[in-house]
Amino acid sequence: MNCTKCKTKAVIDLPRHNAAFCKICFNGYIHDQVAKAVKSDRMFGKDDRILVAVSGGKDSLALWDILLKMGYKADALYVNLGIGSYSEESHRKVVTFAETVAAVHGAKLHVHTVQEEAGAGIKELAQIIHRPACSTCGTIKRYQFNRVALEGEYDVMATGHNLDDEAARLLGNVLHWQDEYLDKQSPNLPASVEGFARKVKPLYRLAERELAAYSVLNRIDYIVEECPMAKGARTILYKEVLNRLETESPGTKQTFYWKFLERQKQAAPAAASMAEKDQAMLHPCSVCRQPTTAEICSYCKMMARAKTHAS
Ligand code: SF4
Ligand code: ZN
Repeated sequence: MNCTKCKTKAVIDLPRHNAAFCKICFNGYIHDQVAKAVKSDRMFGKDDRILVAVSGGKDSLALWDILLKMGYKADALYVNLGIGSYSEESHRKVVTFAETVAAVHGAKLHVHTVQEEAGAGIKELAQIIHRPACSTCGTIKRYQFNRVALEGEYDVMATGHNLDDEAARLLGNVLHWQDEYLDKQSPNLPASVEGFARKVKPLYRLAERELAAYSVLNRIDYIVEECPMAKGARTILYKEVLNRLETESPGTKQTFYWKFLERQKQAAPAAASMAEKDQAMLHPCSVCRQPTTAEICSYCKMMARAKTHAS
């Protein structure tokens, strides 16, 4: 198998593009796909300050690596969830990447440790507030990324969601016809109200397998193990179903998700109507000032309960 571009020995084949690449041309392909996403969805420019949400996994570390190598100004935030050895190892991987790769580009790593603020890790905190661990985690991550993005005056927040993540999420949203989630499933979510950071997903054109290959070829040391809380999650099943379809018919995932995005762009200015809806419903939390629909936001309520429990 030879590289479609330069005809030397290929290291990866991409059936969905009917192509194969050597390491250099593959890195070029990855950067081109990110450049396309950034340009077509007007995500950010070279002068913007980007905050990357990193977990220690391949996608988010690859995203940080790609943005820095493409010359963007990208710092990162890692949230340590306090999930035993999983958090310890992912934290170590993020710090190693920050010290060895990101530091060369002058980029900075922010860290928030759940245990330090809440006095408990995610599992225990979820028990205290009687909510599932993943929804507790979602509230904390959203809140902390928004806080650091605003306090650090970042122009935009970037997450490592890839084509597989977005296609699986779309399948879940369509199966349950969750209109509100479908409206918000965009790779560029504007800051609908003051106090919310703009969010982008520059990897939405790249498959999980391609990002794993990019990380291995570029010696990015990432945590291979999934978060133990993800066991049994619906998205894993949706990914398996889509992988089956992709094997039978390469290109299924990208057609499914990209066509949805085309229709979304044509259909209506969803972002504008979403912003109107948000503006009508949201106001600053009386404790922390972040936007919320209640008087006190769910994050502040959660922390108050954790502190009462500890005392
Ligand atoms: Fe958080 Fe759940 Fe994802 Fe783990 S699986 S990182 S707890 S949302
Ligand atoms: Zn609050």
